[in-house]
Amino acid sequence: LLLAYDPARKLARLQVTLERAAVNARMIYEILDTEPHQKDAPGARDIAVSGGEIVVDGVSFGYAGTGMVLKNVSFTAEPGRMTALVGPSGAGKSTLIALLLRFYDPNEGAIRIDGQDIAGITKRSLREKIAYVSQQPYLFEGTIRDNLRYGRADATDAEIEEAAKLAYAHDFIMEQPQGYDTPVGENGVTLSGGQRQRVSIARALVRNAPILLLDEATSALDTESEAIVQKALDHAMEGRTVVVIAHRLSTIARADRIIVMQSGRIAEQGRHEDLAQRSDGIYARFHRMQALGLDTDVAIDQAGAAP
Ligand code: ATP
Repeated sequence: LLLAYDPARKLARLQVTLERAAVNARMIYEILDTEPHQKDAPGARDIAVSGGEIVVDGVSFGYAGTGMVLKNVSFTAEPGRMTALVGPSGAGKSTLIALLLRFYDPNEGAIRIDGQDIAGITKRSLREKIAYVSQQPYLFEGTIRDNLRYGRADATDAEIEEAAKLAYAHDFIMEQPQGYDTPVGENGVTLSGGQRQRVSIARALVRNAPILLLDEATSALDTESEAIVQKALDHAMEGRTVVVIAHRLSTIARADRIIVMQSGRIAEQGRHEDLAQRSDGIYARFHRMQALGLDTDVAIDQAGAAP
């Protein structure tokens, strides 16, 4: 009985889960916090962003103890345009986002923003220029206003309200017992999934950064919340360089560039109309499956797995 329990294996699995959870938690904290926790390279400079062009140039990367999970990845996310990352689970999409935020540096290749290699840039200045909306928005212990101000510490109340209005959060915030001063988090009011997402989008709008990284939610909201979250996102995307881990066909189809990832490589890239027309591509396969009514993520996984 004891042998069947296999504690070592269980422990190893737990370790991996905890590490991944820690990475996600760190991504949340460090993006919101403008204080640098990690040391920058000696002589690191602050980034200067004008258009917000992102060039990923021959990037390969592996976590400590894993093989390469990104292999010679190259693409350009054009200023003010939407680039969608699409691919089966484990393809490396989240890892790419983590590299853009400099939670890790590439083993090979470089990421340049407006011509500046981000490896030589201070993390604080980089993250000031990037807003990140994750799948599972995190609300801190504190008031709604505090949570919004995490987007940018010196934001005025008027700026916070303006952002909340653009994110369709203002009305439900005003309905809370103390409006913007209502406590949320563990000891505060409970907001619905759609409301949390709108707070998180408002936080991104408060930051007013030229680059928006978005991990589109996979878990379905009801149709009404869905539509309103989408409208809030449309406001957040306007005029920004957007890189989105996309799970919805509507997002993918209107992206200016689709990057199809598979096992750490870029399998295909282009626009929806072009990729969908290829007779043998993964994207075309995905599109056919999706047209048959398969859920988008299931279709992507199956298209990636097919020979
Ligand atoms: P999903 O849609 O499931 O999140 P993904 O395309 O975002 O998938 P990644 O999460 O980037 O893929 O994972 C790429 C590979 O790297 C996977 O094999 C994954 O197990 C591994 N990986 C991800 N995070 C870590 C980590 N912190 N430590 C070690 N390996 C990791």
